[in-house]
Amino acid sequence: MKLNELTAHEILQGFQAKTITPDSVYQCLQETIQNKDKKIHAYAHSADPAITPKAMDGKYPIPIAIKDNICIKDYLTTCSSRILEGFRPPYDATVITKLKDSGSIILGHANMDEFAFGSSTESSYYGVTRNPWNLDCVPGGSSGGSAAAVAAHEAIWALGSDTGGSIRQPASFCGVVGLKPTYGRVSRYGLIAFASSLDQIGPITKDVEDCALLLNLIAGHDEKDSTSANLPVPDFTRALTKDVKNIKIGIPKEYFIDGMDAEVKDSVLAAIEHLKGHGAQFIDISLPHTEYAVATYYILATAEASSNLARYDGVQYGLRCQPQQQRRTPIIDMYEETRDQGFGAEAKRRIMLGTYALSSGYYDAYYLKAQKVRTLIKKDFDEAFRSCDAIITPTAPTTAFKIGEKTSDPLSMYLSDIYTISVNLAGIPALSIPCGFSKNGLPIGLQIMGKPFDEEMLFRIAHTYEQGTEWHKRKVVL
Ligand code: GLN
Repeated sequence: MKLNELTAHEILQGFQAKTITPDSVYQCLQETIQNKDKKIHAYAHSADPAITPKAMDGKYPIPIAIKDNICIKDYLTTCSSRILEGFRPPYDATVITKLKDSGSIILGHANMDEFAFGSSTESSYYGVTRNPWNLDCVPGGSSGGSAAAVAAHEAIWALGSDTGGSIRQPASFCGVVGLKPTYGRVSRYGLIAFASSLDQIGPITKDVEDCALLLNLIAGHDEKDSTSANLPVPDFTRALTKDVKNIKIGIPKEYFIDGMDAEVKDSVLAAIEHLKGHGAQFIDISLPHTEYAVATYYILATAEASSNLARYDGVQYGLRCQPQQQRRTPIIDMYEETRDQGFGAEAKRRIMLGTYALSSGYYDAYYLKAQKVRTLIKKDFDEAFRSCDAIITPTAPTTAFKIGEKTSDPLSMYLSDIYTISVNLAGIPALSIPCGFSKNGLPIGLQIMGKPFDEEMLFRIAHTYEQGTEWHKRKVVL
């Protein structure tokens, strides 16, 4: 097997046994990116060189791709938006500091939907990313570049961010493992904000063991992020040695609905049977407010986004455009011209939706009401977790769709997030793991949701499943 096709834990074993060197792994990755990324476009800014540690003797000299919304000091960080053109942050995100301390090799910034608004990585100012399993299909989004890089062996592992499914859905579409940690588990310091009450950074990896290892590297309390939890962080790899005997897993009836692709349904049901064979017990549960999740999310997420994006006015960051003609005052004209040229269509749509939802007269009817429904959705999970240890659902209702299929119909794009967004509204952790392929050869993802700060349960179930199946071993041929 080529070095770039190995998992991080296999590479670490190779380092220990002295059969491979960090430099040989890095060179192999660089060649692959050179040869393959013209087809995939997993990386947003190919001109920026990789960041290698001074000496390759850190604990984890593993090459990683970083989503383009995570700040890296002096390194082009644009959220794949024109408005941040040329922006080089003056500081590292906490996760980047941690990765640098561990000796990581940062390959580059992975492409994403502009400001993480989307489910397909088609709204990047730098162009679409393609799904390595079928170049006519989307890789999912918004962390599509991160997931595609891992699936195409253009990175050993990657970081993404997940506000409503942006780690799990692309992981599902690209046949890799993706985890949205509990809100507060990983510091958001230096993650460019989309919706601050929902955003969370997490790993995208080739298998569950790597996912646990990478979470170990990035998790933990950070006084620079007031929402990060001051709780001890376990060694997540310890969960990999535990089985699932007598673990109770809930199946929410609201998630197995018409409109779900038959192949997705069959694969998820087969995974449930597989886990039963390992002694897990399944019970039917209800998450009664699921039907309101999409509407609630798209009010709250756009409201927070409209407020977070107010700072991009051509003064402090990135792009500044001078107006062609005077309309109002020079400064207002400059703001307007910059925002008009700097933001793409989806970003503008969200700024308008969010501003509307927050405007006086509509605030109570939309924003306040959505906050109340969010509490009901959270309570659904509290109630469900009284009778089970984890919940299993599909990650997405379909496999990867065609490039261009949903771009002219934002609502159908929003509806495809139905299975992932409740998790963010409730703040709980959830993981997506490959559980099959469609007859067209596209990956299918299984989602496992857990109690707050119980990522270990997700690893335990996912690892047991993975050990008995071969899906994660299928490799993209490019
Ligand atoms: N697809 C969702 C959206 O467009 C989620 C995006 C995300 O998690 N960043 O808002």
